[in-house]
Amino acid sequence: MMRFTFLTAAVLGCVTAAAADVVVLRAEAWLDVEAGRRVTPGVVVVEGERIAALNPASLPQGARVIELPGMTLLPGFIDAHTHLGSDLGPGWESRSVRWSDIDHALLGVRHARATLESGFTTVRDVGSSGFYDVALMHAIERGDFPGPRIVPAGHGIGATGGHCDATGYAPGVLEGGPEQGVADGPAEIVKAVRYQIKHGAKVIKICATAGVMSYEGPVGSQQYSAEELRAVVAEARLHGIPVAAHAHGPEGIIAASEAGVDSIEHGSLLTDEAIRVLKKNGTWLVPTLYQWFEEYDLPPAIHEKNEFIKARVGDSMRRAFAAGVRVALGTDAGAGPHAQGGREFTAYVEHGMSPADALRAGTVNAAALLRTDDRGRLKAGLLADIVAVAGDPLTDIGVVEDVRFVMKGGAVVRQPQ
Ligand SMILES: [Zn+2]
Repeated sequence: MMRFTFLTAAVLGCVTAAAADVVVLRAEAWLDVEAGRRVTPGVVVVEGERIAALNPASLPQGARVIELPGMTLLPGFIDAHTHLGSDLGPGWESRSVRWSDIDHALLGVRHARATLESGFTTVRDVGSSGFYDVALMHAIERGDFPGPRIVPAGHGIGATGGHCDATGYAPGVLEGGPEQGVADGPAEIVKAVRYQIKHGAKVIKICATAGVMSYEGPVGSQQYSAEELRAVVAEARLHGIPVAAHAHGPEGIIAASEAGVDSIEHGSLLTDEAIRVLKKNGTWLVPTLYQWFEEYDLPPAIHEKNEFIKARVGDSMRRAFAAGVRVALGTDAGAGPHAQGGREFTAYVEHGMSPADALRAGTVNAAALLRTDDRGRLKAGLLADIVAVAGDPLTDIGVVEDVRFVMKGGAVVRQPQ
């Protein structure tokens, strides 16, 4: 009898706790991103931080119901390429000598919140000084302020004088070593990779070629040898984490893909041969496309590089999309505007991708690249990272630029006005 009473109390306790913790989202439809299919109606039951059921036969009693009429539910968006603690605000050019890493972290607080409210519930931060990306990740996990789930890289790793180094300063100013991601030859590279991982990196970012927002050149030239690229990949693999390679020019793209990196970031100067190699190796392309067409006030040397890429990147992406290269969405927010990631989906469609493929790029594909298979789809058991848009994104991709509802881990971040 005693035993029975105890069990009854325990069961009742569970039911009460569960009912208070259950939220039902009732929309017009939900999007099965893998199938590219809009399913009606769109009822998602959320228990705690996870999805419990989709379109169940009956609704759980006592659940809180959130009505989202006319809307489509989608998995929270994922941006595979951000720099949350950077932007092109006043004085950005000299921040590397005027700002501390704490300044960058605090700027990141603002951009993290705006990014989450725009519908991006996970971002990969690829290259930041002093591990402020890891600090942001921890603070958001503690619930200190709102922001997306972060997959941090620590310092981007590259050659002395390369895009991941600080160039344009006098000798003795901002000279870094492997700890800060400046590493030459396999031995230093191994040390650089291990140091980033020691301090929290969940992905290794490298600079395989020259870049735009830096003073070295020419813009697409290869900056790591095949041997150095292989050293990065071998070390990252020992730790079970992926490698993201910044690369613009075809030689560096091909060398990085052949060395086994998981993704090419930017990939803005693709040749047919480079596209063939990416396809052969199954390397992901993270296009960072829409930000090229923004207007920025850039120093002349950087403006020139930006114009060079801008004239070529559209054609490059069109051919890559048409060839069926695997694409994961990335914006390069920080080098471009923050919290406008919805425009990246639109840019893919404008360059020939179907809306369903674009939506996959920013959800299930990006989740695969980030190795976070607990999100990126609406499915029972996965994290309740859910957004809602007005209308049907399969017929009008532009609706993703105006996300109306955001939930992260079962907690409502944004409600329709
Ligand atoms: Zn970047």
